[in-house]
Amino acid sequence: MTTRSISILGATGSIGASTLDLIRREPGKWRVVALTANCQAAELARLAREFSAEVAVVADESCLPELREALAGSRIAAAGGAGALVEAAARPADITIAAIVGCAGLAPTMAAIEQGGTVALANKEALVSAGDVMIEAVRRHGTTLLPVDSEHNAIFQCLAGNDPAHVRSITLTASGGPFRDWSAEQLAAATPAQAIRHPNWDMGAKISVDSATMFNKGLELIEAHHLFPVGLDKLRIVVHPQSVVHSMVEYRDGSTLAQLGPSDMRVPIASCLAWPARMDTPCDPLDLAALGELTFRAPDEQRFPATRLCRQAAEAGGAAPAVLNAANEVAVAAFLAGQIPFSRIAVMVEATMTRYTPPAPTSLAEVFGVDTEARAHARELLELA
Ligand code: NAD
Ligand code: MG
Repeated sequence: MTTRSISILGATGSIGASTLDLIRREPGKWRVVALTANCQAAELARLAREFSAEVAVVADESCLPELREALAGSRIAAAGGAGALVEAAARPADITIAAIVGCAGLAPTMAAIEQGGTVALANKEALVSAGDVMIEAVRRHGTTLLPVDSEHNAIFQCLAGNDPAHVRSITLTASGGPFRDWSAEQLAAATPAQAIRHPNWDMGAKISVDSATMFNKGLELIEAHHLFPVGLDKLRIVVHPQSVVHSMVEYRDGSTLAQLGPSDMRVPIASCLAWPARMDTPCDPLDLAALGELTFRAPDEQRFPATRLCRQAAEAGGAAPAVLNAANEVAVAAFLAGQIPFSRIAVMVEATMTRYTPPAPTSLAEVFGVDTEARAHARELLELA
């Protein structure tokens, strides 16, 4: 068996855990280079020891002493801070799983891209913010970018062996989130606890709120626009409550290819880990007869304006998606902290986008500039509210 080296950025999160679960099942196959977390020093140290990582990094430097202590007596290097995170991501690895949440993952993800191996991207906010700057880096460094996000992984699989010129449309499926059938009045009173209880997927808090607002699907539309450049007018969204069909590609001859699977992120992650081959996962096989029916409906942009805002940002291009993403991150954090009601998230994002329209960033530094400035605008709006 050939050994492959792997780094996991965001190892203590939901995607990180699913990735490590798969790696654990292939003893001897994987050599772990870097594992990172924001803080969670004890958990990170435990994982680093279990997988004999070369280096464990906490982004929050104040957590480094705890990490050092937890790794004392091991041969694992401990590091902390933004620079250490980027350095760890730049270490050579055959594959890097980019699974930090938010724009906080952008710098290390770019470092992994510049290192030139394979990058399996879960961290959609990084691609939404950096857009062309990231895609250009992927091209320049000859990096293989594989989508972990289940919809994009599905599309990637449905496009294999086909000429994108023959694509008539690409349809992203959306579960609709926990508030799919809620009225506008109910949505106004939705609590953080209700928002993070997703019916089909077990995920981190931020993406769970994004699923509830439908910003997740909107961010995914922008993500798809960069990963599969067939034109925005060919990208659709359909609500599919069962989350079994993960997305579809329709071709000019009327054939639609779809990828189906259980609602378990280990399936798309395995597809990235083994690509272009296949590997086993412990997931139960799909039992369509037991499922009985699969249903589909159009999204409701009255109750859930997020997809409309994201499409507008994608159409505007330039800095607009980075502004939208930054405002959404601020608004989601404020909602989770009990500072704003659920329905204000989209209102705040739209207001930030109207207020702040900077020129298109052409470098990573400029993307960070837009992100920082957009956050300041969003926070100001928060105070005005
Ligand atoms: P999570 O909150 O469970 O984990 C996030 C990870 O990032 C943790 O390891 C955390 O320590 C780390 N982190 C958080 N803030 C950080 C910071 N400021 N600096 C450095 N590291 C930081 O999130 P998740 O659900 O695993 O999602 C991770 C990414 O994958 C997100 O971009 C999400 O949209 C995407 N994604 C997740 C799922 C899913 O099912 N969970 C599916 C598709 C895409
Ligand atoms: Mg998804």
